[in-house]
Amino acid sequence: MHLVDLLAQRPVPAAGVYLSLTRRCPLTCAHCSTNSLMTSEEHSADLFLNFLDSLSTAPPPQIVYLTGGEALLRPDLVYQLGLRAHAAGARVALISGMFFARQAEIPAPIRRALTQIDHFAASLDVFHEAQVARSHVLRVLAELLDQGKDVSLQVTGLDEDDPYLAEVTTEVCRTFDDRLPILVAKVGPVGRARQWLQADEAPPHVHPDSFLADPCAMATWPNVTYDGTVVACCSQDVVDGRVPPHLRLGHVAEDDWATIRQRCLSSTLLRAIRVYGPPYLAATYGSGKASCDGYCATCFKLSDDPSIEEALTPVMATPGMPVVEAAVAQMQQTGLVQRYGVGKYGPLALLGAPLAAAS
Ligand code: SF4
Repeated sequence: MHLVDLLAQRPVPAAGVYLSLTRRCPLTCAHCSTNSLMTSEEHSADLFLNFLDSLSTAPPPQIVYLTGGEALLRPDLVYQLGLRAHAAGARVALISGMFFARQAEIPAPIRRALTQIDHFAASLDVFHEAQVARSHVLRVLAELLDQGKDVSLQVTGLDEDDPYLAEVTTEVCRTFDDRLPILVAKVGPVGRARQWLQADEAPPHVHPDSFLADPCAMATWPNVTYDGTVVACCSQDVVDGRVPPHLRLGHVAEDDWATIRQRCLSSTLLRAIRVYGPPYLAATYGSGKASCDGYCATCFKLSDDPSIEEALTPVMATPGMPVVEAAVAQMQQTGLVQRYGVGKYGPLALLGAPLAAAS
């Protein structure tokens, strides 16, 4: 599964599910969005295993995406989850900070876990490189590529003009003869980066008429957080427990995949967030309680104002709305690299893609 195939499913509701297997991580990156330490929280493997046992209760997700913290601190769990996901017909992706690349050989339990991974993504940035040498990360990726595994790099910089991005992407392209896809991302002011990275200023409160629809493509894949709570997006604030009622889909100790999937697909507010985005909803349907003071900040307050869901219910129930929802998801699938890559680096996500996937 090439990176582009994975990104193509991201705007499709319930086409994937994230599992955050642990908040623990052996690295201490200064920009860590999850604020991970080796002492961070980790919950029972059965929470995740039992949930994946329920994938066949409904059409399964196309992709099960395993993340952390560092998911490969639990290699046996990764392996067992992979078996279950594949048995249900899903494919499995995993992202790692590459702590194990410091060893000369991939440790046997991790090697076994990787046999269940259809797409392996490695993080690389100045913070990771201070702890795991770039040459070691590239050595492991080369080994996996040679074995025929689909791999990619997630490279993070401060902004499009960060000289690190130019330098590292040039080296990676040269080393891999343009075969290794690279997703370039920007450090956000979340987790540990909140202490040193300035957040963009909240936009000034402007007249409601000036808010245009701006769909949220992140409110699509259910996200099983560390303790089994299932939320509707991967905003780090939401994962960390700031979960407004409309973004809580349930808990894997009580709810199976069929229930979570149904809630993800049928919630009036979630469907509207995917089509219109929170600022438009607050400005158009709100009574002023959910003021427009930032994209996700506005979303957090949408369920404080019951008039929004009330007014939206007949709108979202119109027979043509499913067609509009499908069209929005399809529009987001086109121009994928512009949407997910940072500026001029977007096309690097296409490297190594079969021609049909890249077009
Ligand atoms: S707008 Fe809402 S659903 Fe979308 S990412 Fe932000 S908090 Fe999550």
